[in-house]
Amino acid sequence: MSDIACHCGRRGALFAKNDGSLKLVRWHHCREHLDKERVALAGLVDSTIPPSMPEIFRDTDVTRLHPNIQKALDWKPQGDVSGLLLHGTTGIGKTRGIWAIICRLWAEEALKDKQLNFQFLTMRKLETTIESGFKDQKHGTAIDQLISLPFLILDDFGKERLTQRMASDLFAIIDERSTARRATIISTNFNGSTLLERFDPRDKETGVALIRRLKDYYRMVGAGA
Ligand SMILES: [Zn+2]
Repeated sequence: MSDIACHCGRRGALFAKNDGSLKLVRWHHCREHLDKERVALAGLVDSTIPPSMPEIFRDTDVTRLHPNIQKALDWKPQGDVSGLLLHGTTGIGKTRGIWAIICRLWAEEALKDKQLNFQFLTMRKLETTIESGFKDQKHGTAIDQLISLPFLILDDFGKERLTQRMASDLFAIIDERSTARRATIISTNFNGSTLLERFDPRDKETGVALIRRLKDYYRMVGAGA
């Protein structure tokens, strides 16, 4: 997408195509100088959904999510509490809730003509990212990138048992992101004590320290089935 500037020097306003493609379009005038009718005639609307959002999550009816998940949808990082942890059994709508939060934040940024800089990673994808960093001998770079992302989402934490490498890498990511107050959302099917069991017995100390960080720096939202 080219970076079109208005005659006043500001960036052109950001919109989305109204044809279901979610494709982003930069208008040739800034939000102050644009002609709303012409924008509408061009088939453009405010962008409310990130183009990278999987289609199956786009039709979420938030009133059908577990009440506790619904209460968490207004989440935003606040001071030291820069994270959100959604825990509970499968089917209560954790992933759908996360996407609803992403969409809310995305829409807020889009009205400021910015694209929310976020990365949504399943634990499987996180593992692949870390492993491929090892193969290319760019492990430190891969971890640093995950630490410096403005907004990181880790879906289904603990789904796979954590190898020693994953345990220490995850601790580094969560610890450093918390210290730097970077927004992070984690979902998991486990609670504090069952999550600890996902760590290798040799990594119990790392597991305890990691769960401590979550308790200190994350808003915890739990929901039973
Ligand atoms: Zn302008």
